[in-house]
Amino acid sequence: MRVLVGAFALEANTFAPGATTVDDFRAQVWRVGAEIGPDALGVRSELAAAWRLLADAGHEVVPSLAAWSAPRRPLAADALAEVVRLVTEPCDGSIDGAYLMLHGSAVAHGDDDPEGTLLTALRARLGPGRPIAISLDCHAHLTPAMVAAADVVTAYRTCPHVDTERTGAEAARLLDAALAGRIRPVVALASRPMITPPEHHDDRREPLRSLMAHCAELEAEEGLLAAGLLMVQPWIDVPGLSWKAVVTADGDDRRARRAAEDLIERAWQAREAFLPPPGPSVGEALGAALADRPPVVLADAGDATNGGAVGDSTELLRAALGLSDPERRILLSVVAPPAARVAHAAGEGAHVELTVGTGDPDAYNARTPLTGVVLRAFDGTFAYTHPANAGYRASTGAAALVRCGAVDVVVHARSVGVIDPALYEALGADPAAYAVVQAKSHVSHRAGFAHVSERTIVAATGGPTTADLTRLAYARRPRPLFPFDQIR
Ligand SMILES: [Zn+2]
Repeated sequence: MRVLVGAFALEANTFAPGATTVDDFRAQVWRVGAEIGPDALGVRSELAAAWRLLADAGHEVVPSLAAWSAPRRPLAADALAEVVRLVTEPCDGSIDGAYLMLHGSAVAHGDDDPEGTLLTALRARLGPGRPIAISLDCHAHLTPAMVAAADVVTAYRTCPHVDTERTGAEAARLLDAALAGRIRPVVALASRPMITPPEHHDDRREPLRSLMAHCAELEAEEGLLAAGLLMVQPWIDVPGLSWKAVVTADGDDRRARRAAEDLIERAWQAREAFLPPPGPSVGEALGAALADRPPVVLADAGDATNGGAVGDSTELLRAALGLSDPERRILLSVVAPPAARVAHAAGEGAHVELTVGTGDPDAYNARTPLTGVVLRAFDGTFAYTHPANAGYRASTGAAALVRCGAVDVVVHARSVGVIDPALYEALGADPAAYAVVQAKSHVSHRAGFAHVSERTIVAATGGPTTADLTRLAYARRPRPLFPFDQIR
């Protein structure tokens, strides 16, 4: 049979200003039709695993679009239209079924549910009776529209996400069975009014370990095909935002619904355990880091670019400026396009006077003057060294490493991940030579910087990915919602 395959992955953050454009995707992964091979998103991706399984089962794989972005600001409306057009383009009446690798928590300007819009359009073009299987990140915001259009839903069961292949292969295996008429999949969704920051989204620890193990137990039951627990990315201010459980069953709606309710109720009962205690302020974290044996990785939780923050926080920079001990240097980064272009154009050795940050004086990204010497200018791409990001590249745009007293700052134009030292190394800085190195994540840096230092401190900074969700101005989220409201 002819099976359409595609991928669309964007974890949006609605607290980050601006829009993610097709150009932003092109700077990461954006391939169309015949440009796509099974490994377009890496050899261990869901797409690769699903593609191989479908091909091995004898199906003709028809690639549509492979679009992947690191977490970012919401999608531009015209970019969503282009995604929908390209994914559905191969539907000429000859397609028997479809598999899509989705992250599942995109938001677009003017559309709270891009994946729902995409799947609804795909269903309309395919027609009824042609199965659609999707695989999701367990931080997906799964919506009723997505469930209405999809016949099979699978999701990661690990966090950090290391079961990408299992997730893609499971979706493809069930799609193959549905195409052959061996199963008649139905999908049910259940939710509870809770969102939580990602610190305790770790399946190697309780309570998530037991919850994810229960997904596998459900799948082992006769008649249940796939079960997923979705902790949702919390930094999207949309109606319906909450933890969800999704179960695919063979022909039995009520069975699927009962299993999904059972799963989400277990998570609901454990909700308090997913709220981490408040971390140290940026000043406390910097003081502790400087007092420890170097190097220490200081994670800026509020400016986590792998959660969709821009990377433009000046909180740590402002705390560090004025420190002048050349034996205890601090390495950090800030996204500031105009300043990056000025420093890059000035070139190595030049003395520059810059302004980074665009916010008010009390904002996480408060406007901050920066005077120093350009140590290195760079405008290119680098490859992440983080074990979970192998194969992904990022481009800095105009960038410069600027020395300002004891602080070395990478000022760069484009948002990139700082879950490993690859950005700093691209600018010629050796993180091991510093007393303190900034990371921009809640959890991922532990793996990405492990070879630099095991000593890490997570600072409770502000910004679009703050761990203290009550600091963010949600306007459209459901009410009541844990942890904002106490719910019995
Ligand atoms: Zn995730």
